[in-house]
Amino acid sequence: MKRSICWILAALFLLAVAACGSNAAEGPATGTAHSPAPKDTQDDVVAVVVTPPPTQEATLPPAPTLPPELIPTPEPTEVPVGDPIITLVEGEELNVAADFTFSDPGYFAADYRGNSLTDRVTVKGEVVPYLTGTYELSYSVKDDDGRSTTVVRRVHIVPAEMPEIVMPPEKTVYLTFDDGPCGYTEELLDVLKKYNAKATFFVIGNKRRTDLIKRAYAEGHSIGVHTYCHEYNKIYKNEKAFFEDFQKTQEVIKEATGSYTRIFRFPGGSANTASRRSKGIMTRLTKIMEDMGYRYFDWNVSAGDSGGNGYTASQIKSRVVNGLKNHSDYAVVLQHDIHLNSVRAVEGILKWGQENGYTFLALDLTSPVVHSKVQN
Ligand SMILES: [Zn+2]
Repeated sequence: MKRSICWILAALFLLAVAACGSNAAEGPATGTAHSPAPKDTQDDVVAVVVTPPPTQEATLPPAPTLPPELIPTPEPTEVPVGDPIITLVEGEELNVAADFTFSDPGYFAADYRGNSLTDRVTVKGEVVPYLTGTYELSYSVKDDDGRSTTVVRRVHIVPAEMPEIVMPPEKTVYLTFDDGPCGYTEELLDVLKKYNAKATFFVIGNKRRTDLIKRAYAEGHSIGVHTYCHEYNKIYKNEKAFFEDFQKTQEVIKEATGSYTRIFRFPGGSANTASRRSKGIMTRLTKIMEDMGYRYFDWNVSAGDSGGNGYTASQIKSRVVNGLKNHSDYAVVLQHDIHLNSVRAVEGILKWGQENGYTFLALDLTSPVVHSKVQN
């Protein structure tokens, strides 16, 4: 008797388990108490299973809420002891175009607990930003426990990218005017406008004629740096002195035009010997300035228009015209708009040039360069 009761209980138990299984088979997506069981399983278990087992969530007692002081704090996670870590922004190998200045992209440092040590990092080494080559900077830091780390960054100063030079059509003339602008420049701009000719002004910064620089630029002429003070002994004393003079003029140009220029003419030209007190400076500067993305222009036709020569406007015109005849591919003409006779010669040059198929253009970074042989 006892045994048969056991069997019956066992059978009921199995049926109940089967019912649970069929309910579970509905899957979690439909597992609510109201979801109908699939038809094929429902037939067998309908008599036994009265209610599907409630979901587990519903049966759990509400979580006890302990006062905060009784909530056990977890054991602190064990941080392995280690040296400080220095992270270099932009990595350990850095390619930078040559420039007047170099600014470090930065770094972070922390001890093994995660506390910042960035303020304690010391940097050793020097980058000469305008000289191409590879430089090493080392960054060191020490934590409160005396553990230290040093990482090294290699900075590669590379030449700036320059646009390709585009050869102009034959009979292109680049008139260039140094040492201005000044009062005569207005007359010059009027003449250039009359002939729809473009030219280039290599300006002296300390003349502070931003009004004229602005007008020239607005009328389609190019503006280049010549110098700020035009004193050879000052400018060519060393690289730093040259850069300072150059950048002061850049600021004047930016004030007038809204942007810096990338073209320039060395005071005295690149072949000057006025710089000889600083041995080799022209050799260095000609390379450095080009590495930094600037182009300098000498000339292959000279008007010989300095006041000391005493040439009349018509003599200056003849000199330039003869020069153009010798450079039928392209000519870069040196003139000075601080000499009235030179300014007065321009109309005759433009007239002759246009009658003989020459075009007068402004220099830019894609213009062919005329470089003299450096003497110092
Ligand atoms: Zn000059």
